[in-house]
Amino acid sequence: MSRFIYADHAATTAVTDTALKAMLPYFTQEYGNPSSLYRFAQQAKSDLDQARATVAQCLNAQPEEIYFTSGGTEADNWALRGVTELMALRGKKTGHIITSAIEHHAVLHTAQYLEKQGYEVTYLPVDGQGRVDPAAVQAAIRPDTILISIMAANNEIGTVEPIAEIGAIARAHKVLFHTDAVQAAGHIPVDVQAWNVDLLSLSGHKFGGPKGVGALYMKKPLRLPALIQGGGQEGGRRSGTENVPGAVGMAAALREAVDRLGVESPRLAGLRDRLIQGLTALPYTRLTGDPVNRLPGTASFVFEGVEGEALLLHLDAKGICASSGSACSSASLDPSHVLLAIGLPHAIAHGSLRLSLGPENTEADVERILEEVPRVVEYLRQLSPVWDAAAQKPTWDVE
Ligand SMILES: *Cc1c(COP(=O)(O)O)cnc(C)c1O
Repeated sequence: MSRFIYADHAATTAVTDTALKAMLPYFTQEYGNPSSLYRFAQQAKSDLDQARATVAQCLNAQPEEIYFTSGGTEADNWALRGVTELMALRGKKTGHIITSAIEHHAVLHTAQYLEKQGYEVTYLPVDGQGRVDPAAVQAAIRPDTILISIMAANNEIGTVEPIAEIGAIARAHKVLFHTDAVQAAGHIPVDVQAWNVDLLSLSGHKFGGPKGVGALYMKKPLRLPALIQGGGQEGGRRSGTENVPGAVGMAAALREAVDRLGVESPRLAGLRDRLIQGLTALPYTRLTGDPVNRLPGTASFVFEGVEGEALLLHLDAKGICASSGSACSSASLDPSHVLLAIGLPHAIAHGSLRLSLGPENTEADVERILEEVPRVVEYLRQLSPVWDAAAQKPTWDVE
Protein backbone atom coordinates (compact mmCIF):
# COMPACT_ATOMS: atom_id res chain seq x y z
CA MET A 1 0.00 0.00 0.00
CA SER A 2 1.35 3.42 -0.93
CA ARG A 3 1.35 6.41 1.33
CA PHE A 4 -1.67 7.08 3.52
CA ILE A 5 -3.63 10.22 2.63
CA TYR A 6 -5.62 11.94 5.32
CA ALA A 7 -8.40 14.00 3.71
CA ASP A 8 -10.79 14.27 6.64
CA HIS A 9 -9.67 17.47 8.39
CA ALA A 10 -13.27 18.57 8.95
CA ALA A 11 -13.60 15.56 11.29
CA THR A 12 -10.39 16.24 13.19
CA THR A 13 -6.78 17.28 12.62
CA ALA A 14 -3.38 16.21 13.90
CA VAL A 15 -1.96 18.42 16.65
CA THR A 16 0.60 20.68 14.97
CA ASP A 17 4.25 20.60 16.07
CA THR A 18 3.91 24.16 17.34
CA ALA A 19 0.85 23.30 19.45
CA LEU A 20 2.43 20.10 20.78
CA LYS A 21 5.64 21.90 21.78
CA ALA A 22 3.63 24.60 23.49
CA MET A 23 1.64 22.02 25.47
CA LEU A 24 4.35 19.62 26.60
CA PRO A 25 5.76 21.58 29.58
CA TYR A 26 2.33 21.65 31.25
CA PHE A 27 2.19 17.89 31.64
CA THR A 28 5.40 17.38 33.60
CA GLN A 29 6.98 20.70 34.54
CA GLU A 30 4.43 23.50 34.75
CA TYR A 31 1.76 21.25 36.24
CA GLY A 32 0.62 23.62 38.99
CA ASN A 33 -3.07 24.20 39.58
CA PRO A 34 -3.82 27.74 38.34
CA SER A 35 -5.93 28.29 41.49
CA SER A 36 -3.03 27.65 43.88
CA LEU A 37 -1.33 30.67 45.41
CA TYR A 38 2.38 29.76 45.32
CA ARG A 39 4.53 31.17 42.53
CA PHE A 40 5.02 27.73 40.91
CA ALA A 41 1.29 27.52 40.16
CA GLN A 42 1.01 31.17 39.28
CA GLN A 43 3.10 30.47 36.19
CA ALA A 44 0.38 28.10 34.96
CA LYS A 45 -2.21 30.75 35.78
CA SER A 46 -0.45 33.44 33.81
CA ASP A 47 0.12 31.08 30.86
CA LEU A 48 -3.58 30.21 30.90
CA ASP A 49 -4.38 33.92 30.84
CA GLN A 50 -1.96 34.35 27.95
CA ALA A 51 -3.74 31.55 26.04
CA ARG A 52 -7.05 33.32 26.67
CA ALA A 53 -5.60 36.60 25.37
CA THR A 54 -4.25 34.85 22.26
CA VAL A 55 -7.61 33.24 21.46
CA ALA A 56 -9.32 36.60 22.03
CA GLN A 57 -6.89 38.36 19.72
CA CYS A 58 -7.48 35.83 16.95
CA LEU A 59 -11.23 36.59 17.09
CA ASN A 60 -10.97 40.37 17.66
CA ALA A 61 -12.41 39.86 21.16
CA GLN A 62 -11.37 40.79 24.71
CA PRO A 63 -9.70 38.17 26.94
CA GLU A 64 -12.53 38.43 29.52
CA GLU A 65 -14.95 37.38 26.79
CA ILE A 66 -13.33 33.95 26.26
CA TYR A 67 -14.41 30.93 28.33
CA PHE A 68 -12.57 27.67 27.84
CA THR A 69 -14.77 24.58 27.47
CA SER A 70 -14.26 20.89 26.70
CA GLY A 71 -14.90 21.50 23.01
CA GLY A 72 -17.32 22.73 20.38
CA THR A 73 -20.22 20.58 21.56
CA GLU A 74 -20.03 21.98 25.07
CA ALA A 75 -19.76 25.56 23.80
CA ASP A 76 -22.84 25.04 21.59
CA ASN A 77 -24.82 23.49 24.46
CA TRP A 78 -23.81 26.32 26.78
CA ALA A 79 -24.80 29.03 24.28
CA LEU A 80 -28.30 27.68 23.66
CA ARG A 81 -29.14 26.43 27.14
CA GLY A 82 -27.43 29.41 28.77
CA VAL A 83 -29.58 31.92 26.88
CA THR A 84 -32.79 30.13 27.90
CA GLU A 85 -31.60 30.02 31.53
CA LEU A 86 -30.68 33.69 31.46
CA MET A 87 -34.12 34.60 30.11
CA ALA A 88 -35.79 32.35 32.69
CA LEU A 89 -33.88 34.21 35.44
CA ARG A 90 -35.34 37.42 34.00
CA GLY A 91 -38.84 35.92 34.25
CA LYS A 92 -39.26 34.72 30.65
CA LYS A 93 -39.78 30.98 30.96
CA THR A 94 -40.64 30.34 27.31
CA GLY A 95 -39.57 31.88 24.05
CA HIS A 96 -38.66 31.40 20.44
CA ILE A 97 -35.33 30.35 18.94
CA ILE A 98 -34.28 30.62 15.30
CA THR A 99 -31.72 28.20 13.89
CA SER A 100 -31.13 26.44 10.58
CA ALA A 101 -31.88 22.96 9.28
CA ILE A 102 -28.18 22.29 8.59
CA GLU A 103 -26.63 22.92 12.02
CA HIS A 104 -24.30 20.42 13.65
CA HIS A 105 -26.09 18.02 16.00
CA ALA A 106 -24.54 19.85 18.96
CA VAL A 107 -26.92 22.71 18.10
CA LEU A 108 -29.81 20.73 16.56
CA HIS A 109 -30.16 18.21 19.36
CA THR A 110 -29.89 20.98 21.96
CA ALA A 111 -32.64 22.90 20.15
CA GLN A 112 -34.80 19.76 20.11
CA TYR A 113 -34.19 19.30 23.84
CA LEU A 114 -35.26 22.92 24.43
CA GLU A 115 -38.44 22.29 22.40
CA LYS A 116 -39.29 19.55 24.91
CA GLN A 117 -38.81 22.15 27.67
CA GLY A 118 -41.47 24.34 26.04
CA TYR A 119 -39.42 26.61 23.76
CA GLU A 120 -40.49 27.09 20.16
CA VAL A 121 -37.82 26.59 17.52
CA THR A 122 -37.83 27.66 13.87
CA TYR A 123 -35.48 25.55 11.73
CA LEU A 124 -34.87 27.78 8.72
CA PRO A 125 -34.53 25.99 5.40
CA VAL A 126 -31.48 26.62 3.20
CA ASP A 127 -31.17 26.96 -0.56
CA GLY A 128 -29.73 24.30 -2.86
CA GLN A 129 -26.20 25.41 -1.98
CA GLY A 130 -26.77 25.36 1.75
CA ARG A 131 -27.11 29.12 2.24
CA VAL A 132 -29.32 30.60 4.95
CA ASP A 133 -31.14 33.65 3.56
CA PRO A 134 -30.65 36.65 5.89
CA ALA A 135 -34.08 37.94 4.80
CA ALA A 136 -35.59 34.67 6.04
CA VAL A 137 -33.89 35.18 9.41
CA GLN A 138 -35.36 38.68 9.58
CA ALA A 139 -38.82 37.41 8.64
CA ALA A 140 -38.69 34.70 11.32
CA ILE A 141 -37.98 37.12 14.18
CA ARG A 142 -40.94 37.47 16.59
CA PRO A 143 -41.44 39.62 19.67
CA ASP A 144 -40.62 36.57 21.82
CA THR A 145 -37.47 35.52 19.89
CA ILE A 146 -34.66 35.11 22.42
CA LEU A 147 -31.87 33.69 20.25
CA ILE A 148 -30.69 33.22 16.69
CA SER A 149 -28.11 30.45 16.20
CA ILE A 150 -26.67 30.03 12.70
CA MET A 151 -23.40 28.24 11.97
CA ALA A 152 -20.54 30.17 10.33
CA ALA A 153 -19.57 27.32 8.01
CA ASN A 154 -21.11 23.92 7.45
CA ASN A 155 -19.09 20.84 8.35
CA GLU A 156 -20.52 18.57 5.64
CA ILE A 157 -20.74 20.73 2.54
CA GLY A 158 -18.37 23.58 3.43
CA THR A 159 -20.84 26.39 2.74
CA VAL A 160 -19.86 29.64 4.47
CA GLU A 161 -22.93 31.49 5.76
CA PRO A 162 -23.55 35.25 5.51
CA ILE A 163 -22.87 35.72 9.22
CA ALA A 164 -22.15 39.47 9.20
CA GLU A 165 -25.47 40.13 7.45
CA ILE A 166 -27.39 37.94 9.89
CA GLY A 167 -25.52 39.58 12.77
CA ALA A 168 -26.58 43.04 11.62
CA ILE A 169 -30.21 41.88 11.52
CA ALA A 170 -29.98 40.33 14.99
CA ARG A 171 -28.44 43.52 16.35
CA ALA A 172 -31.11 45.74 14.73
CA HIS A 173 -33.82 43.60 16.36
CA LYS A 174 -31.97 43.32 19.68
CA VAL A 175 -31.99 39.52 19.53
CA LEU A 176 -28.98 37.58 20.84
CA PHE A 177 -26.95 35.91 18.09
CA HIS A 178 -24.85 32.75 18.43
CA THR A 179 -22.70 31.21 15.72
CA ASP A 180 -21.11 27.77 15.72
CA ALA A 181 -17.76 28.77 14.20
CA VAL A 182 -16.10 25.40 14.79
CA GLN A 183 -15.39 24.91 11.06
CA ALA A 184 -14.58 28.57 10.51
CA ALA A 185 -12.02 29.37 13.21
CA GLY A 186 -8.50 28.96 11.85
CA HIS A 187 -9.88 28.38 8.34
CA ILE A 188 -11.43 31.72 7.35
CA PRO A 189 -11.09 35.14 9.03
CA VAL A 190 -13.29 35.33 12.14
CA ASP A 191 -14.12 38.74 13.63
CA VAL A 192 -16.72 38.88 16.38
CA GLN A 193 -17.05 42.67 15.98
CA ALA A 194 -17.55 42.65 12.21
CA TRP A 195 -19.88 39.67 12.52
CA ASN A 196 -21.98 41.27 15.27
CA VAL A 197 -22.13 38.05 17.25
CA ASP A 198 -22.90 37.80 20.97
CA LEU A 199 -21.82 34.18 21.31
CA LEU A 200 -19.40 32.09 19.26
CA SER A 201 -18.24 28.48 19.62
CA LEU A 202 -14.92 27.03 18.52
CA SER A 203 -13.04 23.78 18.99
CA GLY A 204 -9.28 23.14 19.20
CA HIS A 205 -9.07 19.88 17.27
CA LYS A 206 -10.51 21.32 14.05
CA PHE A 207 -7.50 23.61 13.48
CA GLY A 208 -4.45 21.73 14.72
CA GLY A 209 -5.06 21.91 18.46
CA PRO A 210 -5.82 19.03 20.81
CA LYS A 211 -9.18 17.29 21.24
CA GLY A 212 -11.27 17.98 24.32
CA VAL A 213 -10.78 21.73 24.45
CA GLY A 214 -12.75 24.58 22.91
CA ALA A 215 -14.07 27.98 23.81
CA LEU A 216 -17.22 30.02 24.02
CA TYR A 217 -16.96 33.75 23.30
CA MET A 218 -19.52 35.85 25.21
CA LYS A 219 -19.73 39.49 24.23
CA LYS A 220 -19.49 41.87 27.18
CA PRO A 221 -21.67 42.68 29.09
CA LEU A 222 -23.59 39.47 28.24
CA ARG A 223 -22.97 36.93 30.98
CA LEU A 224 -24.68 33.54 30.66
CA PRO A 225 -25.37 31.68 33.91
CA ALA A 226 -22.73 29.19 35.02
CA LEU A 227 -22.64 25.98 33.01
CA ILE A 228 -20.92 23.96 35.76
CA GLN A 229 -21.04 24.73 39.48
CA GLY A 230 -17.97 24.24 41.64
CA GLY A 231 -14.78 26.02 42.54
CA GLY A 232 -15.46 29.11 40.48
CA GLN A 233 -12.97 28.76 37.63
CA GLU A 234 -13.54 30.60 34.32
CA GLY A 235 -15.02 33.63 36.00
CA GLY A 236 -17.31 31.44 38.12
CA ARG A 237 -19.12 30.17 35.03
CA ARG A 238 -17.40 26.94 34.14
CA SER A 239 -15.94 25.36 37.26
CA GLY A 240 -13.37 22.59 37.31
CA THR A 241 -9.58 22.71 37.32
CA GLU A 242 -8.60 24.19 33.99
CA ASN A 243 -7.22 22.11 31.11
CA VAL A 244 -4.04 24.20 30.98
CA PRO A 245 -2.17 22.13 28.35
CA GLY A 246 -5.32 21.98 26.24
CA ALA A 247 -5.95 25.72 26.37
CA VAL A 248 -2.29 26.52 25.69
CA GLY A 249 -2.15 24.06 22.78
CA MET A 250 -5.40 25.33 21.28
CA ALA A 251 -4.22 28.95 21.52
CA ALA A 252 -0.89 28.11 19.87
CA ALA A 253 -2.65 26.24 17.06
CA LEU A 254 -5.16 29.03 16.49
CA ARG A 255 -2.43 31.68 16.44
CA GLU A 256 -0.46 29.64 13.91
CA ALA A 257 -3.50 28.92 11.71
CA VAL A 258 -4.59 32.56 11.70
CA ASP A 259 -1.05 33.76 10.94
CA ARG A 260 -0.79 31.33 8.01
CA LEU A 261 -4.27 31.97 6.64
CA GLY A 262 -3.05 34.36 3.95
CA VAL A 263 -0.78 31.68 2.47
CA GLU A 264 -2.51 28.44 3.43
CA SER A 265 -6.02 29.41 2.44
CA PRO A 266 -5.27 30.08 -1.25
CA ARG A 267 -3.06 26.98 -1.36
CA LEU A 268 -5.87 24.79 0.00
CA ALA A 269 -8.45 26.46 -2.22
CA GLY A 270 -6.27 25.61 -5.23
CA LEU A 271 -6.08 21.94 -4.22
CA ARG A 272 -9.82 21.91 -3.42
CA ASP A 273 -10.70 23.41 -6.81
CA ARG A 274 -8.56 20.82 -8.56
CA LEU A 275 -10.58 18.10 -6.77
CA ILE A 276 -13.85 19.80 -7.66
CA GLN A 277 -12.86 20.20 -11.29
CA GLY A 278 -11.62 16.61 -11.59
CA LEU A 279 -14.47 14.87 -9.84
CA THR A 280 -17.41 16.89 -11.16
CA ALA A 281 -16.20 15.90 -14.64
CA LEU A 282 -17.47 12.36 -13.85
CA PRO A 283 -20.97 11.66 -15.13
CA TYR A 284 -23.89 11.95 -12.68
CA THR A 285 -21.68 13.65 -10.13
CA ARG A 286 -22.25 17.01 -8.52
CA LEU A 287 -20.65 19.32 -6.07
CA THR A 288 -22.60 19.87 -2.84
CA GLY A 289 -22.54 23.23 -1.11
CA ASP A 290 -21.84 26.71 -2.38
CA PRO A 291 -19.32 26.78 -5.24
CA VAL A 292 -18.06 30.25 -4.26
CA ASN A 293 -18.67 30.81 -0.55
CA ARG A 294 -17.03 27.66 0.74
CA LEU A 295 -14.32 26.61 3.16
CA PRO A 296 -10.91 26.60 1.46
CA GLY A 297 -10.19 22.94 2.25
CA THR A 298 -13.57 21.29 1.77
CA ALA A 299 -14.69 19.55 -1.42
CA SER A 300 -17.96 17.59 -1.17
CA PHE A 301 -19.85 15.60 -3.76
CA VAL A 302 -22.65 13.22 -4.50
CA PHE A 303 -22.20 10.39 -6.99
CA GLU A 304 -25.42 8.89 -8.31
CA GLY A 305 -25.61 5.12 -8.19
CA VAL A 306 -22.98 4.83 -5.44
CA GLU A 307 -23.29 4.13 -1.73
CA GLY A 308 -21.22 6.62 0.28
CA GLU A 309 -20.26 3.97 2.86
CA ALA A 310 -19.01 1.57 0.19
CA LEU A 311 -17.04 4.38 -1.41
CA LEU A 312 -15.38 5.17 1.93
CA LEU A 313 -14.46 1.55 2.58
CA HIS A 314 -12.91 1.17 -0.86
CA LEU A 315 -11.00 4.43 -0.47
CA ASP A 316 -9.84 3.27 2.95
CA ALA A 317 -8.47 0.12 1.33
CA LYS A 318 -6.47 2.43 -0.98
CA GLY A 319 -5.13 4.37 2.01
CA ILE A 320 -7.40 7.40 1.63
CA CYS A 321 -9.31 8.69 4.66
CA ALA A 322 -12.43 10.63 3.74
CA SER A 323 -15.93 11.02 5.04
CA SER A 324 -19.48 10.65 3.84
CA GLY A 325 -21.56 13.43 5.34
CA SER A 326 -21.06 13.87 9.06
CA ALA A 327 -18.97 11.46 11.07
CA CYS A 328 -21.55 11.51 13.85
CA SER A 329 -24.30 10.09 11.68
CA SER A 330 -22.17 7.55 9.86
CA ALA A 331 -23.52 4.82 12.13
CA SER A 332 -27.08 5.47 10.97
CA LEU A 333 -28.46 4.53 7.57
CA ASP A 334 -30.48 7.72 7.08
CA PRO A 335 -28.87 10.16 4.70
CA SER A 336 -27.47 13.27 6.31
CA HIS A 337 -29.94 15.99 7.36
CA VAL A 338 -27.71 18.51 5.60
CA LEU A 339 -27.91 16.78 2.22
CA LEU A 340 -31.68 16.41 2.55
CA ALA A 341 -31.97 20.09 3.53
CA ILE A 342 -30.24 21.19 0.32
CA GLY A 343 -32.95 19.30 -1.55
CA LEU A 344 -31.18 16.13 -2.63
CA PRO A 345 -33.43 13.09 -3.04
CA HIS A 346 -32.65 10.28 -0.54
CA ALA A 347 -31.25 8.01 -3.23
CA ILE A 348 -28.73 10.59 -4.36
CA ALA A 349 -27.87 11.84 -0.86
CA HIS A 350 -26.68 8.29 -0.04
CA GLY A 351 -23.79 8.68 -2.48
CA SER A 352 -21.98 11.50 -0.71
CA LEU A 353 -18.26 12.03 -0.24
CA ARG A 354 -16.50 14.78 1.70
CA LEU A 355 -12.79 15.40 1.14
CA SER A 356 -11.43 17.97 3.58
CA LEU A 357 -7.82 19.01 3.10
CA GLY A 358 -5.31 20.36 5.58
CA PRO A 359 -1.72 21.56 5.99
CA GLU A 360 0.00 18.27 5.20
CA ASN A 361 -1.92 17.60 1.96
CA THR A 362 -0.01 18.11 -1.27
CA GLU A 363 -0.67 18.22 -5.01
CA ALA A 364 0.47 14.61 -5.17
CA ASP A 365 -2.29 13.68 -2.70
CA VAL A 366 -4.85 15.38 -4.88
CA GLU A 367 -3.57 13.54 -7.96
CA ARG A 368 -3.82 10.21 -6.11
CA ILE A 369 -7.37 11.02 -5.02
CA LEU A 370 -8.24 11.97 -8.59
CA GLU A 371 -6.96 8.59 -9.77
CA GLU A 372 -8.61 6.46 -7.11
CA VAL A 373 -12.06 8.03 -6.66
CA PRO A 374 -13.15 7.69 -10.32
CA ARG A 375 -11.97 4.04 -10.34
CA VAL A 376 -13.90 3.19 -7.20
CA VAL A 377 -16.99 5.07 -8.36
CA GLU A 378 -16.96 3.21 -11.67
CA TYR A 379 -16.42 -0.15 -9.96
CA LEU A 380 -19.24 0.42 -7.48
CA ARG A 381 -21.60 1.56 -10.21
CA GLN A 382 -21.03 -1.66 -12.16
CA LEU A 383 -22.16 -3.60 -9.09
CA SER A 384 -25.02 -1.30 -8.22
CA PRO A 385 -28.65 -2.39 -8.65
CA VAL A 386 -29.55 1.28 -9.24
CA TRP A 387 -27.03 1.79 -12.06
CA ASP A 388 -27.90 0.87 -15.64
CA ALA A 389 -24.50 -0.33 -16.86
CA ALA A 390 -25.57 -0.55 -20.51
CA ALA A 391 -26.88 3.01 -20.61
CA GLN A 392 -24.21 4.31 -18.17
CA LYS A 393 -26.80 6.12 -16.11
CA PRO A 394 -28.82 5.62 -12.93
CA THR A 395 -32.02 3.58 -13.17
CA TRP A 396 -33.97 6.57 -11.86
CA ASP A 397 -34.87 9.76 -13.60
CA VAL A 398 -34.51 12.72 -11.30
CA GLU A 399 -33.91 16.15 -12.76
C1 LIG B 1 -16.75 19.22 15.17
C2 LIG B 1 -17.88 20.18 15.25
C3 LIG B 1 -18.53 20.42 16.48
C4 LIG B 1 -18.19 19.67 17.73
O1 LIG B 1 -16.95 20.03 18.26
P1 LIG B 1 -16.24 19.05 19.32
O2 LIG B 1 -15.09 19.82 19.82
O3 LIG B 1 -15.85 17.83 18.54
O4 LIG B 1 -17.25 18.77 20.38
C5 LIG B 1 -19.55 21.35 16.50
N1 LIG B 1 -19.90 22.03 15.40
C6 LIG B 1 -19.30 21.84 14.21
C7 LIG B 1 -19.73 22.63 13.02
C8 LIG B 1 -18.27 20.90 14.10
O5 LIG B 1 -17.68 20.70 12.91
